[in-house]
Amino acid sequence: MKYVSTRGQAAPVDFVGACLAGLAPDGGLYVPETYPQIAPAGPDEPYAQVAARILSAFAGDAIRETDMLAMCERAYASFAHHSVAPLTQAGAGLWLMELHHGPTLAFKDVAMQIIAQLYDYMLGKSGKRLSIVCATSGDTGGAAAAAFAGARHADLFILHPHERISPVQRLFMTTTGASNVTNLAVDGDFDDCQAIVKSLFADKAFANSVGLSGVNSINWARIAAQSVYYATAQAAFGRKIRFVVPSGNMGDALAGYVAARCGLMTGGFEIACAVNENDALARLFNTGVMSRSPAVATPSPAMDISVPSNFERLLYEATGRDGDAVRSVYDRYKQAGEAALPETAIGRLGCVGITAATVSNADTLAEMARFEAETGWLICPHTAVGTFRARQLPRSDIATIVLATAAAAKFPETVKEATGLDAPLPHRSGALLARGEVFDRLPADLSAIRGAIEAKTHTVP
Ligand SMILES: *Cc1c(COP(=O)(O)O)cnc(C)c1O
Repeated sequence: MKYVSTRGQAAPVDFVGACLAGLAPDGGLYVPETYPQIAPAGPDEPYAQVAARILSAFAGDAIRETDMLAMCERAYASFAHHSVAPLTQAGAGLWLMELHHGPTLAFKDVAMQIIAQLYDYMLGKSGKRLSIVCATSGDTGGAAAAAFAGARHADLFILHPHERISPVQRLFMTTTGASNVTNLAVDGDFDDCQAIVKSLFADKAFANSVGLSGVNSINWARIAAQSVYYATAQAAFGRKIRFVVPSGNMGDALAGYVAARCGLMTGGFEIACAVNENDALARLFNTGVMSRSPAVATPSPAMDISVPSNFERLLYEATGRDGDAVRSVYDRYKQAGEAALPETAIGRLGCVGITAATVSNADTLAEMARFEAETGWLICPHTAVGTFRARQLPRSDIATIVLATAAAAKFPETVKEATGLDAPLPHRSGALLARGEVFDRLPADLSAIRGAIEAKTHTVP
């Protein structure tokens, strides 16, 4: 199994290389040179076994299949629901796929739990140690902290904007008690955190000295791990499915496309991406133009994204895998803040079965109340963006599955505002409140952050 860059100018790498590098050296994203064809999931096949088969197909020779199964079994044992991604009916022809049964109550756990296992395995074999740095506006940091706490071959550094994330989100990051997890509360906003992380990677001498690596949503292992629940949903339904995917960076929706390319969606599929008022992805699909506008705060903060990074992987396919064409779009976008997609790519995009639409803040909050009135269930604001979109789609006899990306309890303030109801943490998370939080507050200053990382990096690779 080889991975190539969407911008066509980086040497092919294997699975380990693609995962540990994150971004390709030419600025592109890694995709498989050819999509492996994988046998569909069986209706009674355990989730961890489906995951191991799919991830093994992507890993090729890099990881022994028995080791992969053991890692998947460990990763998914941390989920409160033994089905991992259970389907529940919410109305006529409408289901939720609950992706929030992991340790930090958001779908990021599905990929992060197995990625931490994969990293420890790959690093243990090579004798390397890495410093993983991530900037978070909420859910990714918590999922990474829960997954990497106690990892033997990696230190994790999480940058979050001080007092600008929800208290529950912060608790998930700061209470692991693990010596290899460091939380840095930065006096600034999320963009400041992200800019610092970019500068850390750009400083090659520093990056090499601490073995810098990332686990953000462009990491191929995340996409591969997320394709698994599309396959298990197909196994449960056995017919054509329409997935409605609350989207930000588009990693989740892209994983559905990847599942289809690997032969896992035997009944056929449609993917309807639903975005909040940060509508860059909807503009891309509906106008064929990539244009910049700053991110605005909405009730669904994990989707407040101005550049949906994973779209690049779809564009690569839509250009007929033309790295030069992709590079030219992103170069023009970088220079001018706007770039039209090539006509042929727009034509092909129209045929892959993926659409995108935006949902307003007001509709999101009203949907949370309406959904509760109809079912008695509280949903998180991200999920509500999806269920609102599902109502607008033409009724048909195919099953509609909305991906429930976080538990309502993770966003109690918004749930209260929308429904007047309390969304208490589940019993299993209750212990969080009793544990002490550990984080260091630092100015939004590159050298201060660099110093904090150097001081806590356990060994230099
Ligand atoms: C990250 C996240 C999303 C968006 O997923 P993408 O893969 O970035 O499109 C949606 N909902 C929640 C709760 C998230 O944490």
